[in-house]
Amino acid sequence: SERPTPLLVDDEEGGVLFVSNPASSSSSSQLERLRQRLPVYKYREAILYLVENHATSIIVGETGSGKTTQIPQYLKEAGWAEGGRVIACTQPRRLAVQSVASRVAEEMGVKLGEEVGYTIRFEDQTNPGLTMIKFLTDGVLIREMMDDPLLTKYSVIMVDEAHERSLSTDILLGLLKKIQRRRPDLRLVISSATIEAKSMASFFHIRRKNLRNDAIDAAPNQEPAILSVEGKGYTVEIHYVEEPVSDYLQASVETVISIHDKEGPGDVLVFLTGQDDIEAAVKMLTDEYNYSRGRSSDLLVLPLYSGLPRGEQDLIFAPTPRGKRKVVISTNIAETSLTLEGVVYVVDSGFSKQKFYNPISDIESLVTAPISKASARQRAGRAGRLRPGKCFRLYTEEYYLRDMPSEGIPEIQRSNLVSCIIQMKALGIDNILGFDWLSSPSAEAMVRALEVLYSLGILDEDAKLTSPLGFQVAELPLDPMVSKMLLSSCELGCSEEIVIIAAMLSVQSIWVSTRGVHKEFDEAKLRFAVAEGDHVAYLNVYKGFLQSGKSSQWCYRNFINYQAMKKAIDIREQLVRLLKRLGLTLKSCEGDLKMLRKAIISGFFAHACQLEEYSPNGMYKTLRSSQEVYIHPSSVLFRVNPKWVVYHSLVLTDKQYARNVIAIDPAWLIEAAPHFYQLRKPNPALF
Ligand code: ADP
Ligand code: MG
Repeated sequence: SERPTPLLVDDEEGGVLFVSNPASSSSSSQLERLRQRLPVYKYREAILYLVENHATSIIVGETGSGKTTQIPQYLKEAGWAEGGRVIACTQPRRLAVQSVASRVAEEMGVKLGEEVGYTIRFEDQTNPGLTMIKFLTDGVLIREMMDDPLLTKYSVIMVDEAHERSLSTDILLGLLKKIQRRRPDLRLVISSATIEAKSMASFFHIRRKNLRNDAIDAAPNQEPAILSVEGKGYTVEIHYVEEPVSDYLQASVETVISIHDKEGPGDVLVFLTGQDDIEAAVKMLTDEYNYSRGRSSDLLVLPLYSGLPRGEQDLIFAPTPRGKRKVVISTNIAETSLTLEGVVYVVDSGFSKQKFYNPISDIESLVTAPISKASARQRAGRAGRLRPGKCFRLYTEEYYLRDMPSEGIPEIQRSNLVSCIIQMKALGIDNILGFDWLSSPSAEAMVRALEVLYSLGILDEDAKLTSPLGFQVAELPLDPMVSKMLLSSCELGCSEEIVIIAAMLSVQSIWVSTRGVHKEFDEAKLRFAVAEGDHVAYLNVYKGFLQSGKSSQWCYRNFINYQAMKKAIDIREQLVRLLKRLGLTLKSCEGDLKMLRKAIISGFFAHACQLEEYSPNGMYKTLRSSQEVYIHPSSVLFRVNPKWVVYHSLVLTDKQYARNVIAIDPAWLIEAAPHFYQLRKPNPALF
């Protein structure tokens, strides 16, 4: 009987009007009409009423109903941004942050970065005196708590895409629940495409006695309200393959071609997993289809993945030119974060890139893994926006019914917890296992992370942040191992170089995708290659880019991603500023590559691997847990196979690949982390 009673507002008419894709130069009255035709518009008053009267409102509505772009505007129109207060809306994905912020700025007729702004890591497009609506990643909002623990400048915080259950969303929800007890004026809006709304509601149900005394008088209703926005999508016909497909990339390309040959007009949305397979599919479709079949290019094939340059993002939303069929090949960002209007056909590979962490081996890697039924339903739903659509699933019906998991596992239960722990410690939360989690992380993963943090010198014996190192690491918006590497480089006297390496490692991919042109690519890579490894090669790439006068031509000739280089320059500048703020200065090691590698090891000693003697194919084993690892083909050390390496990250495809590796001397490992390597079973090769 203590259960909150959800408040449901029903849609009487139930219908959704479809409006064709607006040109990007839509007039403001046109945009206004479009806004009013979105399903959430009918709930405008109800939503505002709930936010006014309830500390937490949970809004469930299907993708494309207008939650993300409209609710922050309604709140602003109702006065929640008056008196210098700000309305925040968080997203798990950076690309979604940029995209929705620019859409909302356009709808409001303001310049992006003024009344409507956004903040993602390394990019702040807000104006403190002006910004009323701010889109940001949930990770950035957690970081803001370090300077302003109660997030006082925000009147309403909308946690969007909560169904994704990203690591940062889960941490954020727990922290916001704490903040709510001390700030009865703060309103939370939790929105998502699908949600077990009731469990979210019971999570946020704060009994009045838990509120601090002085907070009780002003407190709004603590019972969370649940509102579901009915947006009637059209029916989507589901097609399965008869036999399991062995190559989903090839199968998706063939399916697109068959849709184009046999089906009526309408755009196609293809779900693949990441930049590599997306670029490959784009290439296969543009080259093989449009040219080899001798047809004019009547397919407009566009990629969509995080890290895509802004100009290309805009093409995704631009109306499809007459006589063409748009084919967008996307990661699962188009599953619920972004809506493309003209889609009638969906091709679902059944896979996505997911983070997996094994606490036994302490290995976190990015894996192409099967999606859940919940995701498959979302993907199919994207075909029913315009009119009845079709979804082609590249897996069998039997697989869907029998083997596909019904829900995904929350990211917190498949992540390495190192960053999570540092952030929570920095926010003064000591008992992390006892924290109020929506889903608890595993104790094993926690122990592993504490052990690594202790070895890094970030936590002390009492599991408190060390001073100054632990606190400095918490200040830097980087992976803790990268932060440690950077801070050690200041002591070792090679920070000038390491700050460049850290910036280069922070951008998605320095090399341009290389399918089909291996030879030229390998030659280009050789121009920068060095025996030490990728980190030092990046240093050479960076220098070369500066010497070329930051030329895009130079990048093109050398298979280097120009956008990534510009981003790296920008990130380097920001890191230099952050180091200055910590009172640290830059110093060059003047070519002492041993120093450089020692700095890298001081952060990444846990990622050390040894080449298996007599292994003909370059197999390594990790020192920590004897896992098989191979050097990734994009590495300058691919086929070079030095005896000892330290890697930056792992990706799992057919094998476990180490990306960005550097050759080391094993003696440096014990020097950098005596506890870590002496606690483990001693490796005879090391001693
Ligand atoms: P939800 O958050 O409920 O999924 P959104 O608010 O993201 O819905 O989208 C509402 C509408 O705005 C959709 O019809 C979508 O196509 C449109 N829209 C969103 N972003 C853009 C954009 N960048 N360009 C054009 N249309 C957009
Ligand atoms: Mg949305």
